[in-house]
Amino acid sequence: MSFGLYIHIPFCKSVCAYCDFFRGVYDSHRAQRYVGALINNAKKAAAELRPQQAADSVYIGGGTPTVLAEGMLAAALEGIKKHIKFAEGAEFTCEGNPESFTEKKAEELKRLGVNRVSLGVQSLNGATLRALGRAHTARQAVAAVELAARRGFRVSADMMLGVPFQTEADVKAFVRAMREAGAEHLSAYMLTVHEGTPLFEAVRRGEFCPSEDESADLYEAFFRAAAECGYARYEISNAAFPGAECRHNLKYWRAEEYLGLGAGAFSMLGGRRYHIKEDLDAYLAGSCEEVTDEVMSAKELALEQTVFGLRTRFGAPAEALAAAGIDAAELLSRAGRYFTFDGGALRLKEEFWLVSDGIITKYIL
Ligand code: SF4
Repeated sequence: MSFGLYIHIPFCKSVCAYCDFFRGVYDSHRAQRYVGALINNAKKAAAELRPQQAADSVYIGGGTPTVLAEGMLAAALEGIKKHIKFAEGAEFTCEGNPESFTEKKAEELKRLGVNRVSLGVQSLNGATLRALGRAHTARQAVAAVELAARRGFRVSADMMLGVPFQTEADVKAFVRAMREAGAEHLSAYMLTVHEGTPLFEAVRRGEFCPSEDESADLYEAFFRAAAECGYARYEISNAAFPGAECRHNLKYWRAEEYLGLGAGAFSMLGGRRYHIKEDLDAYLAGSCEEVTDEVMSAKELALEQTVFGLRTRFGAPAEALAAAGIDAAELLSRAGRYFTFDGGALRLKEEFWLVSDGIITKYIL
């Protein structure tokens, strides 16, 4: 049985104005120690895997993995592979930011076997990028996507919606520019303003006023433009050329197994969801203390598979519905306006994806 492997790198060049992820500013000494801590983590975590279990998707995320100095990722992967098997032909993604995705970095990632790059572009509007505190310009972002595509990586680009100075024209221009630059996959995330961030302060001072209605319009505009450019939406926030869906993220949405390495990283193995404590100093000192978030029965797992599946084009498989105790025919009689069922899978109609949380809570949970 395969699984997805996630490796968390909690360092960035600088901290963006909206970010509340578990990350910190890059420090080469701590990053070097982090490499050793990841290998120690892999050794301990290997005991939780079944013999012969191999990762058929690997995802290095952050933070900003491309901020690591040359050689660090290689050392981490070499050590991790001593304890955890990578399957032949695995999808191997590395996240990166445009300012640190250089020719040299692309070369290094190629050597390591990375075959997919996910770049945090976020916007191509200079005023927006400055307001978000991003460490790159629009020109650098387009150049990074072009470079990744030229070097033969499968490329995904992220955009944030509902951000300062953003217009529908920006959103459409972004999608077209990414297609021209060679991205095969796009993700769009709504901005959340977290208390304690510089952006939160800007909102409090009245410099920026987020609007849910405007964000919803931008979201619709984004996926309309994506469809016009050949990207098919396959999940609430994601669209891809046919066959270019992210295999690793599909594991999350299908409630399949994954193992997370790194401080703060989440895992889901044998029905148990847990994460490693978000304490970088303890992690660097060799602690991999796990915090159990949930232990799920087979029925609860099936319900989770149903809920996540409904947020994708593939829907919730009939077997998961049966195991979760959901009668599709009865559901359709109550809520046929929102759902379709073709015998193989239950689907939420795409026009309701943006309000899926409310519908799923009302009719499924
Ligand atoms: S690059 Fe990503 S993880 Fe790093 S500070 Fe910005 S938003 Fe946060």
